[in-house]
Amino acid sequence: MTEQSSLPETETTFASLNLADPITKALEGLGYEKPSPIQARTIPLLLEGRDVVGLAQTGTGKTAAFALPVLSNLADANQNHKSPQVLVLAPTRELALQVAEAFNSYAEHVPSVSVLPVYGGSSYGPQLAGLRRGATIVVGTPGRVIDHLERGSLDLSDLKYLVLDEADEMLRMGFAEDVDRILSSAPKEKQTALFSATMPRAIQRITGDYLNDPVQVQVEGQSKPAQNIRQRYLQVAQPWKLEAMTRLLETEDTDGIIAFVRTRNMTEELTTKLVARGFAAAAISGDIPQNIREKTVEDLRAGRIDILVATDVAARGLDVERISHVVNYDIPHDTSSYVHRIGRTGRAGRQGDAILLMTPRERYLLRSIEKATKQSVEEMQLPSLDEVNASRRAAFAENITQTIAAHDDNEELSTYRDLVTDYIAEHDIAAVDVAAALALMVQDGRPLEASEPDLPPMNQRGQRKDQHGGERSSRPKRATKEGHATYWVAVGHKDRVGPGNIVGAIANEANLDISEIGEITIRPTFSLVELPEQLSHKQQEALKNAVVGGRKLNLRLDKGAPKSFGSRGTHGGGYDPAQRGQKKKQRWSKAKKRTSYEG
Ligand code: ADP
Ligand code: MG
Repeated sequence: MTEQSSLPETETTFASLNLADPITKALEGLGYEKPSPIQARTIPLLLEGRDVVGLAQTGTGKTAAFALPVLSNLADANQNHKSPQVLVLAPTRELALQVAEAFNSYAEHVPSVSVLPVYGGSSYGPQLAGLRRGATIVVGTPGRVIDHLERGSLDLSDLKYLVLDEADEMLRMGFAEDVDRILSSAPKEKQTALFSATMPRAIQRITGDYLNDPVQVQVEGQSKPAQNIRQRYLQVAQPWKLEAMTRLLETEDTDGIIAFVRTRNMTEELTTKLVARGFAAAAISGDIPQNIREKTVEDLRAGRIDILVATDVAARGLDVERISHVVNYDIPHDTSSYVHRIGRTGRAGRQGDAILLMTPRERYLLRSIEKATKQSVEEMQLPSLDEVNASRRAAFAENITQTIAAHDDNEELSTYRDLVTDYIAEHDIAAVDVAAALALMVQDGRPLEASEPDLPPMNQRGQRKDQHGGERSSRPKRATKEGHATYWVAVGHKDRVGPGNIVGAIANEANLDISEIGEITIRPTFSLVELPEQLSHKQQEALKNAVVGGRKLNLRLDKGAPKSFGSRGTHGGGYDPAQRGQKKKQRWSKAKKRTSYEG
């Protein structure tokens, strides 16, 4: 293979590339000023008819690097073909759609060209119709392309150009065999281009097997994280990662966050734990259906959630401006994925923060990242409980300020003002005491301040030991009984109920045996009860309406169970995002609704 990695950078313009006029016109319309380095170097080769391997990081304009020369050739040729001239393979539905869209925008003034995306997870009808109508360019995911080949609905016999886009990702996602099949069923006489961020051995093999004397073009300089991203790491033993994460979330000045983990299962696990601790988090991974993934990203963009827990694959190319922090909850195994991950923050020229959680054993991975990026990652210390508490106090105060600001001349506030005034007059009590009592009510049994003793010191192996000398697990000590779940009920000490009252009512109303009722924890304003996971609808209804101590139970699954009632009680009864202040008004009102004083 011819390599072209050290050509001098010349000032190439789109005009000097000799693209067909309608294409140049489209680029003017789009406002592209000059070709990116990968475009400047691959477009001439592709126009010449050479096979090309283009290596450049995400976001360097690889799509136009192949789309422009292909469209330019199609614009010059006359178009009366019934079967596709161009096939582009892309790893995922969203990338296929993006590429198809890009083709459409560059082909704005080439009316003879039609573009058809084909991907899994959508119905065949429109795709079949599009193929029958004679799409010029098909952009598809490997699996769906094979389906169409097998059905005979996709005819590659007339193919002139084949592009493998994001080839490394395609292989990482397990499409190697499919790609082989597609490449070997395409005609020999065609031009092939392969674009990729990295060049693993499997791609070298494909290149050797299917490309014809290709020229390899590599654009360097993108293997470095952008300068506007502050990189830090926090050394923490595995079982303490979650604790470290929540302390970071509480003390860092964050907006949107992506937390990267290694596996799909881990996205679910971490999300569940963060939600249980009161954070607005959601998971995306290759397992999640595409439409839901898109919705989740939209939720992050719109601020309906703050934390996206993702795998590399799911977050590929993700571009959300409000991401202030990337947390590498699991350290990535290679530098390019580190660079890609942290590149999800610092978008649109903003300042970004990247924090890496690293266990002592993973230090060598950090070293190799630092070496490859030629940048050092700054060490940071675990935020102390004092810092966490200071943040919580500040957020609590901020919440008051915001609530007052938002309801200043609003009736809602004055209703309560009157109520409090009357109360003070009647009870001869200081306003500050009333306010303190109200604050306690709002907290609903969750202490504002964390009271857990600070993490015990590291032992030699870098693991922390608990007071009993054993290694602590990240799970709360008191596990719920197998097949049981923790439910929340609206009665607590204030209703003068004891476990006996609750057990009796539940057993009778839901027709449960007493042995099926597990631990009961009574808190000031509510209680938690372990009951069988599978309660019938009828039982659930009965338990919502059952009355104990003069109050309806309003039973529901307790989402916050692990935090509040593990004996660790890290946050001394949990963390409420309402305490974070800022943009938290919605949740503030939700938290208020949850207090059981209203009834
Ligand atoms: P890659 O495939 O390398 O990750 P894309 O092809 O998706 O990158 O391009 C990234 C973004 O840059 C797209 O929004 C694209 O429209 C834009 N872009 C590409 N080439 C240029 C250019 N020459 N000038 C300005 N913007 C460009
Ligand atoms: Mg791309």
